[in-house]
Parts: sequence; structure tokens; C-alpha cells
Amino acid sequence: MSSFLNVEWTICCSSSAAIRRPCGRCGTTQSFSSMGKFRLNANGSRLDAWLIYSCQCCGRTWNRSVFERKAVASLSKKDLLALQSNDPGFAARIAQAPLICANGDVQPQNDFTLTGRHVPVSGKGGCPGLLVIRNPDLGRVRLDKVLVRGLRLSRNDLHSLVKTGGLRVRNASSKALRRPTPALLMVECHDAAGDEVMRRLRRLPE
Ligand SMILES: [Zn+2]
Repeated sequence: MSSFLNVEWTICCSSSAAIRRPCGRCGTTQSFSSMGKFRLNANGSRLDAWLIYSCQCCGRTWNRSVFERKAVASLSKKDLLALQSNDPGFAARIAQAPLICANGDVQPQNDFTLTGRHVPVSGKGGCPGLLVIRNPDLGRVRLDKVLVRGLRLSRNDLHSLVKTGGLRVRNASSKALRRPTPALLMVECHDAAGDEVMRRLRRLPE
């Protein structure tokens, strides 16, 4: 191992709010994006509401449930009007809201890019390498996704590196990997990570 390495990554999120799901027409998983329109179905005093999405590849639509069989009387006038008028702000808010998929994934997963820089080292860091991750916009991106992308590792490799102590999230347990990345977080790179991981850390994300 060479001398102490200090690297900083910054996450830049594009909040497309697309949802990845199987498309019946394409026959594969595709990105569906909100069309900004609601479909409403009144049944007596109850209302169903969906936000309409379309496959970015073939245009097939999919309705995302906003609520089912909700008493109209329980809705505020403002929300009801927003649904009836396809209010863009209201539709965007629904599109950004988490959706738990059958496999436990939470969508929409924001897509993101990483920029990196070497930080001048002052003193020792207590470990061979320190990675500072900044998420200034607090884009909802899981930490393991960031590390997998930035270090060009498989998810399995990443998780075993954390298990063996090669990578350690400072002041947090390994559970932090599966959580959204906070505004500022540090990952220590220890000897157990090996030279290859250090080399990848030195080579900044493109
Ligand atoms: Zn499609």
C-alpha cells in the first residue's frame, strides 16, 4: 500500500422519477415515466385514483394506484381539484413518492452521476484510504449503488468487502449500504480491501 489516499465523490442526481417495471408489449423491463395525468373512477361516494405512466420505449400505459376506494368526503377540496385538473405539481409529487416493488426495491430510484477529485491530504487518516461522499441535493440513491458504480465492483464484491472489513462506513453499521446516501458520509478503505480496490479508488469515477 502506498501513502494515504483521500478521494471525494459528489453525487449529482437526475430525478426522472421513472419506474422500472416489466412491459407487456416490449417483453422486457422498461422505464415508465409519468404522463402527468390522473385517471379517476367514482363509485358512489368512493373514489379510485391512478397516475398514468407510459413505457418510454413503446408507449404502453400503466396506471399507478394513488389510492383506492377513498371516501370523497375525506379528500380536501384542493387535492380533489388537483386530481381533476391534472395539476402538474401534484402529479410530480405523486411520481416522486416511493413505490415498494414486489422484490422489495423502492422506486423510483433516481439515476445519478458521480464526479470525483483527489483531496490534498493533511495528516494521516487512520486508514490507507478515505472516501468522502457528498450528496448535496440529497437525491435518494442507495449507498451500495454509489459504491458499486464508483468503484466498478459487483454488488456481491462490495458487500463481501464490507463484511471482511476492507471497506468501512465511518460512524455507521453496514446497514447504511442499503439506505439512501446522506448529505455527507465517509468510507474508510482498509488494508483488507487489497491493492486493486485502492487502485480503483485512485482512478476517479468518469
Ligand atoms: Zn414497452
